[in-house]
Amino acid sequence: MCGILGVFGHPEAANLTYLGLHSLQHRGQESAGIVTLHEGRLNGSRRMGLVADAFTEEDLSRLPGNHAIGHVRYSTAGGSLLKNAQPMWIDYVRGPLAIAHNGNLVNAESIRRRLEGRGSIFQTSMDTECIVHLIAQAPQDDLLKRIRVALEQVEGAYSLLFLTPEGMVAVRDPNGFRPLMMGRLNGATVFASETCAMGLIGAEPEREVLPGEAILVTAEGREEIQLLPPSKPTRCAFEHVYFSRPDSHVFGNEVYSVRRKMGRKLAAEQPADVDVVVPVPDSGVTAALGFSEALRRPFEMGLLRSHYVGRTFIEPQKSIRDFGVKLKLYPVRGVIEGRRVAVVDDSIVRGTTSRKIVAMLRQVGAAEVHFRVSSPPTRWPCYYGIDTPTREDLIAARMDVDEIARYLGADSLGFLSRDGLMECLGEGGGPPASGGAGQGGPAESESTYCDACWSGEYSIPIADR
Ligand code: AMP
Repeated sequence: MCGILGVFGHPEAANLTYLGLHSLQHRGQESAGIVTLHEGRLNGSRRMGLVADAFTEEDLSRLPGNHAIGHVRYSTAGGSLLKNAQPMWIDYVRGPLAIAHNGNLVNAESIRRRLEGRGSIFQTSMDTECIVHLIAQAPQDDLLKRIRVALEQVEGAYSLLFLTPEGMVAVRDPNGFRPLMMGRLNGATVFASETCAMGLIGAEPEREVLPGEAILVTAEGREEIQLLPPSKPTRCAFEHVYFSRPDSHVFGNEVYSVRRKMGRKLAAEQPADVDVVVPVPDSGVTAALGFSEALRRPFEMGLLRSHYVGRTFIEPQKSIRDFGVKLKLYPVRGVIEGRRVAVVDDSIVRGTTSRKIVAMLRQVGAAEVHFRVSSPPTRWPCYYGIDTPTREDLIAARMDVDEIARYLGADSLGFLSRDGLMECLGEGGGPPASGGAGQGGPAESESTYCDACWSGEYSIPIADR
């Protein structure tokens, strides 16, 4: 998962990109980068770490120009190394080109093998580099045509920004897995993974880049074309469950209000007789609010979160990740002691964090702990841009709900159903035979969301795995 941002036609392009990347920091904390275009040349700066640490004032002052693209990275393909930080920028026979990618290609390994077999030399281990090679090899003179030739060969999830002397190009894959918004800031055009980044820099969101669409922005104006035929949309439902920031509008819905609905629906499907509702901060907060409203039980911040450590999953080694849980969350005894607690989180992945949370709550005297999750059990890895572990490490791939409850040490465990989740997203809840939750909406086959991590139904076959 990653965040991307572009500013075309503003004298403060690098500074605005820097600020906008702060608002996308939740989408990736491993590295950050900005590339600008000035007098036909690209200048860039990339470092490991958070946006606030990755750029100095001096770095930004070395990024002149009215056009910029930026990236925050959370690796799904390729290691967490500086050489894999984005944007990537290169010079090839047709001049300079920079690219920023959010998503994950499913056939990158075979493309790389094919290209390397013909002598291509790759500089990184990122799937994104395949796109660069394919563009460089395309014979067409026109930039959009070269991008089309390249993207016709790749499969998977991609929201992309390109910066070249010919202009800035934004593209979204034909399924529309990852979000990408276009907006306006006075005369400038802005692209961002999420609307929250536009708010910060004072840009007005205009519309989504459509699945399969390419938008070329030049000094002369915008060219909007359907670059690739759109497929059946499979937008990532997990963006709404976990990944996007609650104040963003994603796929036409405000994330906050969708999460709150998920909490209410969860309470209807999986009620619990408790004294208090406690979220796992920050990921469970909005759903817990909806859960407590619907149950009419008080919402309390019975777990506090340190704001000085990153998301535990970001740490690649198990030893660090386990330690991170203790560093990150602490219970408030006064809220928990002697009470029956419903603890609400957005998802259970490995189960390791959740298990520690239950133990923590018991340690400070919870009378009962009822774990509630505002999404279905994660049984399948994501190959479209969310960093999930392999199937063996997904607890719900190995255990049923009762077994997971026992593993967590919880008195009960309840997940939001797929139908319930789709209803909160404004989709049909599934075929009528499944209980009619989706009546009035489109049938399951018409859902416009990807739910592969819960169902195992991958809309694009996973070519390389
Ligand atoms: P665990 O108890 O180990 O399954 O961890 C569950 C926690 O991981 C929840 O708080 C989720 O919000 C969080 N989470 C879910 N998916 C991801 C992801 N792809 N990256 C980072 N954290 C995640």
